[in-house]
Amino acid sequence: MDNNTNCVFCDINAEHDERRFVYEDDLLFVIPTIEPVNKGHLLIIPKQHAVYFNELDDKTSGHVMQIAKQMAEAIRKSKYKCEGINLFLADGKAAGQEVFHFHLHVYPRFEGDGWGFKWDESKNLIKKKIRDLDEVVEEIKRNFSF
Ligand SMILES: [Zn+2]
Repeated sequence: MDNNTNCVFCDINAEHDERRFVYEDDLLFVIPTIEPVNKGHLLIIPKQHAVYFNELDDKTSGHVMQIAKQMAEAIRKSKYKCEGINLFLADGKAAGQEVFHFHLHVYPRFEGDGWGFKWDESKNLIKKKIRDLDEVVEEIKRNFSF
């Protein structure tokens, strides 16, 4: 398995302290984060060192989502307050990525928990209607391969 010596998640994988692992298999492991949005906040971390989502092989990226579903179910059944679940992927520094080894956050949400996205609406497209969706469709299709 690839191991990057300057990577905290590769270190956690190499240390292999099973007391920290919620789940583990050949492709990935799941740990609680020390900086949770809410209690029960988990990180799904592939064993393969890949920085970005698109660098994961298809088997691993699909498996990440399969395990995310199971973790979401476990969080909902747990004693931790949970009225909803967020999956959060920070893919790149501009998207908020702080540890440059792919990881998917799965965490419980509830009304008034204080978590949320903030943006400057004057710089953001959310409040503006995009009229030319054809251009977006064409641009993404041009760069899509399966
Ligand atoms: Zn790593």
